[in-house]
Amino acid sequence: MASLEQLVFDNSYARLPPGFAARVAPVPFPDAQVVSVNPAALRLLGLDAEEAARPEFARVFGGATPLPGMEPLAMVYAGHQFGVYVPRLGDGRALLLGEVRAPDGGKWDLHLKGGGPTPFSRGGDGRAVLRSTVREYLAGEALHALGIPTTRALCILGSRTPVYREEVETGAMLVRLAPSHVRFGTFEYFHHTEQPGHVATLADHVIAAHFPHLAGQEGRHARFFAEVVERTAELVARWQAVGFAHGVMNTDNMSILGLTLDYGPYGFLDDFDPGFVCNHSDHQGRYAFDQQPRVALWNLACLGEALLTLITEDEARATLTLFQPTFARHFLARMREKLGLKEARDEDRSLLEDLFALMASSHVDYTRFFRALNRFDSSPGARNDALRDHFLPPEGFDGWAERYRARLEAEGSVDAERHASLDRVNPKYVLRNWVAQQAIARAQEGDFAEVDRVLALVSAPFDEHPGQEAYAASPPAWGRHLVVSCSS
Ligand code: AMP
Ligand code: MG
Repeated sequence: MASLEQLVFDNSYARLPPGFAARVAPVPFPDAQVVSVNPAALRLLGLDAEEAARPEFARVFGGATPLPGMEPLAMVYAGHQFGVYVPRLGDGRALLLGEVRAPDGGKWDLHLKGGGPTPFSRGGDGRAVLRSTVREYLAGEALHALGIPTTRALCILGSRTPVYREEVETGAMLVRLAPSHVRFGTFEYFHHTEQPGHVATLADHVIAAHFPHLAGQEGRHARFFAEVVERTAELVARWQAVGFAHGVMNTDNMSILGLTLDYGPYGFLDDFDPGFVCNHSDHQGRYAFDQQPRVALWNLACLGEALLTLITEDEARATLTLFQPTFARHFLARMREKLGLKEARDEDRSLLEDLFALMASSHVDYTRFFRALNRFDSSPGARNDALRDHFLPPEGFDGWAERYRARLEAEGSVDAERHASLDRVNPKYVLRNWVAQQAIARAQEGDFAEVDRVLALVSAPFDEHPGQEAYAASPPAWGRHLVVSCSS
């Protein structure tokens, strides 16, 4: 294990030409303290809990005394927000402190969120509130543990400083890790400001670091775009399969690496409701759960347009047609896994569609249903009450259960084997809004034990965690209609 001072920096973004970023010194909260640290993310950097306990840790990652190798900067980008192009956004309250070369050879952007104003703050205060910080901290690990590409969070730095939103809230900072923070909107910025040289520089920068098999190749930009389309399709397929709604799929929140990026008013489905809108500022339902694949493709079209100085219009158009089949293939593969089906058969699509229709009409809890399905008894005449009881009327489930039973039988599925393997596929614990809200409420009182407890649960979502079953429950009445807005 390394010490903080041994972290090796290789700040490739800082070496790009002027115009990609602004050098900014962080203005951290003076009383910033580490209030929760994520052991898994520490390990990614080769650090251990002892290092995190040093007072220097908060000073270094909170931006008060950057390490000598750090070169804090704010990245410029633009983006389509709710369909409207905003020509200049950029890191208004986040800073890339530096890029760490990890012990395994990987590289991590260290991003400090809430570290004070930047030239891109557009009148904002450059701060983040504890509420949104806890939400992002927990969500990164929850998605990672479910096998979904995402940014990770290293730690929360708490403060007593008030921050003004709709009401007075507690300020906090978050340190986030990602292999890259380049967004679709970063390309859009250089394209729409008519800097084609910078579009090419950015593309080749991303290719060199993250698509090395394409570096220096003829036709690499079209192939790069195709890989971004594929990664994005797979990402959204994975979201749909676990019931995750991002909430603000603006192009500035779309990672060029196909990571889940910028957690705001996201939500996991409780009851299965395809039209679920988690963001209370999204009045039109643009980012509703079932709209995510369509929006991802729309966003990719914006990216394709931003690459038109590097690829032809025909190439862009042809590449975009990859999205739908790639999405469908990944989604079906994930859903077959959730049903415990090893073989692919033509009837699987209708089996799934009919299940979704049943689940929607009975408002079935998405995560609890699939976890219960892990124990499906395929012996003839078995009633499977634990599953039937999710439906109203319970008999409504019987016809589908019979088709499922026959489908399992047709591929010779063995209950005991399937039960064991499905326990690693269908999670018991997802980050439900009401669970996050409970942790936030305690944190706002200065108690971070609940944040740590939830972090441990969602980091091992397939384990039973005896005694913690309450966290796997459908929301209590107070937790059903929590208002989560863009304000953060
Ligand atoms: P977000 O909704 O967090 O994805 O942010 C959209 C844009 O607004 C980004 O450019 C952010 O940096 C900026 N932004 C959000 N909140 C603040 C804030 N409190 N101060 C300055 N900029 C902000
Ligand atoms: Mg954002």
